[in-house]
Amino acid sequence: MDTIVKGGTIVTPHEKYKADIGIKDGKITSIASNLEANGATVIDATGKLVMPGMIDAHVHLSLPFGGTVSSDTWQTGTRAAAAGGITTVVDFAIPRDRADSLMETVNNRKAEAENDVYVDFALHGAITRWDEESRKEIGPLCKAGITTFKMFMVYRSIGWLSTDPMIVEALEETKKHGGMVQVHAESVDLIDSLIENHSSPEEIKKHGAYLHTLTRPQASEYEAIQRAITWAEYTGGHLYIVHMSTKRGAEMVAEARKRGINVIGETCPQYMHLDDSVFSQENGHYYATQPQLKKPEDGEGLWNGLNSMALSVVGTDTCTFNTEQKALWEGDFRKIPMGMPGSELMVSLIYEGVREGKLDLHRMVAVMSENPAKVFGMYPKKGALLPGSDADIMIFDPDKKYIVDFNQMETNCDWSPYQGKELTGFPTTTILRGKIIAQDGKCVGDQGYGQFIKRGPSGNFVK
Ligand SMILES: [Zn+2]
Repeated sequence: MDTIVKGGTIVTPHEKYKADIGIKDGKITSIASNLEANGATVIDATGKLVMPGMIDAHVHLSLPFGGTVSSDTWQTGTRAAAAGGITTVVDFAIPRDRADSLMETVNNRKAEAENDVYVDFALHGAITRWDEESRKEIGPLCKAGITTFKMFMVYRSIGWLSTDPMIVEALEETKKHGGMVQVHAESVDLIDSLIENHSSPEEIKKHGAYLHTLTRPQASEYEAIQRAITWAEYTGGHLYIVHMSTKRGAEMVAEARKRGINVIGETCPQYMHLDDSVFSQENGHYYATQPQLKKPEDGEGLWNGLNSMALSVVGTDTCTFNTEQKALWEGDFRKIPMGMPGSELMVSLIYEGVREGKLDLHRMVAVMSENPAKVFGMYPKKGALLPGSDADIMIFDPDKKYIVDFNQMETNCDWSPYQGKELTGFPTTTILRGKIIAQDGKCVGDQGYGQFIKRGPSGNFVK
């Protein structure tokens, strides 16, 4: 052993017990009580919880979107992730131009990231067109470790929209190769018509950012979720619904899973901690995301969904835009760059739910580490504290209180949706492949240390 994590309490989705973790050459070699140091570097975890490194399987770093580029880059976004206890992020390769090959887009995105990242990373593909050429790319992409493909049920105007037949065919094709379709589920026709009907200069002036709420009601999400589930049932393909924001949606996924349909639901901290009342605040436009924040009862329903195993994964949908970028809206809700920072606070925000009795502690480790690793074909290399697994470890102080302040954070953002909020529970040390990459909220790792993770089959592999 070259390194030992000593004196902590190990928490996995299944167990909680006191033990030390022995590490050699970046891998876990042994887990036992009172391991002898014998010259190995000792990382003290006394009084703390020791969990597998967390995974944020939904980030958009350096993403060209909304007339600008998301302000958390591969560098700052992965520094923020490390500070927040995360050892692997999964970003997206979205073709810039509809004519672009997805394989080429993936290779470009990989090259962009490789020398910059502080944590390990993988990529989801994205399907924005569907023809013989794109169909033929699915098999080779799966072989290259890209086993998930995002499809958008919205975004007609920027050319990302997938129609129902496209989703059906992609579900069929990905199934043959051990792949999975991820959908952004929102009703494009309903939303587009509501936006059109609420875009008079008078209304734009009167309601400002609150028009997001008026144009994206709960039904605009759960109608699309139900439709996507129908296509998963019809084809037998594997479906993953990203960033779910409604209680009703969570109930639909629970019901479908009970019937044996291969569907997995993901939600994000913002949909459980925030609601659409923020749009009436000053600077309410900062909070614009897509899907929009919904109602307080949706937040409760999503906590419930996670705890009751209806929903299986928490990701953040990190897509950071700073105040200058948000100002591009100039009072028109249709022009706001949509998205917010996320990874750095993911663990602490989800731990709030544990403290409040909404989420089981073991379930927290499942939804942010073991489940994303299993669902996205990275287990047990990632998402596990087992001999042979990568020594990706988060040491967590469940009692440490702190006040959120973007000035103290690694994210490249000059505001925070949680500014001034007191949180309890903090990732004090993040270890990636045996090496400390963050300490007490600061990234101390090396740029480019992160590696590309070639993934195996993705799918409905969690209970
Ligand atoms: Zn996203």
